[in-house]
Amino acid sequence: MDAPRRVAIVGAGPAGLFTAAALLAQAGDDLAIDIFDRLPTPFGLLRYGVAPDHASIKSVATTLARVFEAPHVRFLGLVECGRDVTPTQLRDAYDAVVYAVGASDDRHLGIPGEDLPGSRSARQFVAWYSGHPDAEPQPLAGVRNAVVVGVGNVAVDVARILLKDPADLSATDMPDAVLAELRSAQVEHVWLVGRRGPEHAAFTTPELRELLDTPRIGVTLTGADPASIDLDALERHARANVAAIAAALAEPAIDPVRWLHLVFWHRPAELLGLGQVQGVLLEPTGPRPAYGGFVVPADLVLRSIGYRGVPLPGVPFDNGRIPNLEGRVLELDGSARPGEYAVGWVKRGPVGLIGSNKKDAAETAACVVEDFEFLPRRPLADLDSELAARGIRPSTLADWRRIDAAEIDRGAIRGRERTKIEAWHDLLDLVGNS
Ligand code: NAP
Repeated sequence: MDAPRRVAIVGAGPAGLFTAAALLAQAGDDLAIDIFDRLPTPFGLLRYGVAPDHASIKSVATTLARVFEAPHVRFLGLVECGRDVTPTQLRDAYDAVVYAVGASDDRHLGIPGEDLPGSRSARQFVAWYSGHPDAEPQPLAGVRNAVVVGVGNVAVDVARILLKDPADLSATDMPDAVLAELRSAQVEHVWLVGRRGPEHAAFTTPELRELLDTPRIGVTLTGADPASIDLDALERHARANVAAIAAALAEPAIDPVRWLHLVFWHRPAELLGLGQVQGVLLEPTGPRPAYGGFVVPADLVLRSIGYRGVPLPGVPFDNGRIPNLEGRVLELDGSARPGEYAVGWVKRGPVGLIGSNKKDAAETAACVVEDFEFLPRRPLADLDSELAARGIRPSTLADWRRIDAAEIDRGAIRGRERTKIEAWHDLLDLVGNS
């Protein structure tokens, strides 16, 4: 009998793990899968992107973790593709390589003042409250007014975390230091700024409703009037969004303690401030703007205008993605590049919910399995020894299980299900080979 086909998956986020599951379902156990990640923890954006107060989505991790129970599946943490191992080395050691590296950078506004202290990316803010070991601290002392640019689901997440009573976050898995910062914060106003109308906003209705229903917040609306929008001309999701905003305005909260200001048809023209952001000049974007814009006070600006893929050395990259046909990687000229595949955000761009990766992964996995017909079996370059010779010792599933157990213990002390371990040195202490 032939040795099992060997597949490397780069990235242990939802896209990578759904692909492993789909490969196992489609090709059975006659497959050896190594799943690499630069972190010692699997689950990618499920762990470090999904908001801590969205526990039900996070529970997908239980399903995804099942792939590690299959006999020939390994988790190799602390191995970064491009730094510790090159795509060429992976191609030499595996029959197929699947890139599931996501989109780890964010877009920029490209406006004056964007680099002032106090202007940050929502991606960094999310990483911080999710306890990502690379996240920078996000001090909130002195922040009363926050402006969030963009009206997608990430913008909604960060606005909700800023507006929510921190007591309502205390049961989540947020690191202690994050909760402490949020408890001492005194945010009063959050502006959410969309460059088009509420009917064009990218957020989904349940997420919008949850934000509008945040207890004890008042909601205002500038730049758009739901009554003048022709609901019949809209798709269901846009109609529901406009209706949710209209409903929130019609039933104002009694005794609001914080405010959500929705601003549509405006974009930031400049971030203003001396040595620190102090305000945002918003200019109208409609077809015939009647005025020059207005300034909102801002001690914190979070740009939340979408994520951006980062190229891997030697792998084609175009417009934030790896060019591909249904997951099969293509050269920039459109020609085939057998044995390499893409899945998730690096395949289709930074859009879609966690669940979107399931169908996407099934498509990529089907290509891999179909291609086994003609893909050569690679000479078994011994990547394990190559890495060991260079002093790179991947962390294992047992290491992750130790981190997992330690987080559950940390949480139990405070009556929580889990408290994230966010410091690199604490994570590495739990990795057996450190
Ligand atoms: P997104 O959904 O693509 O939204 C980006 C927003 O930024 C849009 O409102 C866009 O407006 C705006 N924008 C882009 N460039 C801009 C500019 N230069 N100036 C002003 N505004 C600009 O991205 P995201 O919020 O980062 O979310 C990424 C994906 O993750 C989405 O599919 C989202 O649904 C998903 N997600 C889901 C959840 C959840 O289910 N709870 C949570 C977080 C993220 P235009 O439309 O005008 O371009």
